[in-house]
Amino acid sequence: MKNRLIDLPNVRLTPLQERLREDKTRCLVCERRCVVDSGCYGFCGTKVNIDGKLYTIVYGDLSALESRPIEIKPFFHFWPGSTALTFSTWSCNFTCPWCQNWHLSRVKPDPFNANYVPPEKIVEKALGRDEGICVSFNEPLLLFEYSLDVFRLARSKGLYNTYVSNGYMTLEALRMLKDAGLDGLKIDVKGGREEYIKYNSANVDVVWRNAREALRMGIHVEIVYLMVTNATDREEVVVETIERHLSELGPETPIHFTRYYPAYRFHEPPTSVDKLEWAYETARKMGVYYPYIGNVPGHRYENTYCPECGEVLIKRYGMWVTKYRITEDKKCPRCGFRINIRGKYVKKSKLRIFFGF
Ligand code: SF4
Repeated sequence: MKNRLIDLPNVRLTPLQERLREDKTRCLVCERRCVVDSGCYGFCGTKVNIDGKLYTIVYGDLSALESRPIEIKPFFHFWPGSTALTFSTWSCNFTCPWCQNWHLSRVKPDPFNANYVPPEKIVEKALGRDEGICVSFNEPLLLFEYSLDVFRLARSKGLYNTYVSNGYMTLEALRMLKDAGLDGLKIDVKGGREEYIKYNSANVDVVWRNAREALRMGIHVEIVYLMVTNATDREEVVVETIERHLSELGPETPIHFTRYYPAYRFHEPPTSVDKLEWAYETARKMGVYYPYIGNVPGHRYENTYCPECGEVLIKRYGMWVTKYRITEDKKCPRCGFRINIRGKYVKKSKLRIFFGF
């Protein structure tokens, strides 16, 4: 049984671990820093200790593989109009009771029934159709070891690499991802100090630290704040989040206030559009250049406006870019204000996307 597990292509040694006394090993991939006994699994259920060494059991075990518009992540200031070949595995290192992807995140992986896809296959599939790669749907860090290999290969072929994450990686993991080719990081902020403790037994400071350090490393960062009714939508918490966003990341980093819908174990009504508009307008007044509201297709606050003169620069309908007016040198065509956009605008037919396995 022991040897058979090690022999599987989806079972690989994790590079971030520390051997403790006897056969105990500490995982250094995320800030839970689990101490795992021999024969046991870490909190997320994707790392197993075999004879004192930690292995991931989900290397390349994919639960989904689809070409998706980058705006759906959402990334609004990164390769607009492009598509990213997007994939995920199982489980999570967080426990949000409102998880919108619980059919993936609440499933424990079964290494003996893995849907193994080698890194070369991912890059081969993306080339000629997508501009980049995205690890998403469930927490991408659970594919940390696999992401490193996919990212190196993808970058060597001219593709970009992105993560849609809860931002709870260790700094060592973040640096390794950056070195392997991580270009864009979308981080979900899930409330303030109290909400992180209550719903995830986690520390909000880690998430802001990682967003700030990623920006310093030259990674493109966007923040998403899911406004969960009666959980993360208290006005003082939203204002505190905007203040922290400005002090850690500055006014040019986009922040998306997204609409929550009841899911998994959370049954409060969907976020009211008034509340989302309030968050957007508060962020704008406090000095954020690019706030957005999400999951309200067709709303005017999905568009990008020039922070200087108010000109509409990018018009969107949900995940689609319907008009793009930023100049090639990334300026407002009316007043010349420099806009924070990474990569090029890609205009492609809607029919070419959403191909899965
Ligand atoms: S990645 Fe998993 S095993 Fe490692 S510290 Fe995080 S929760 Fe624990």
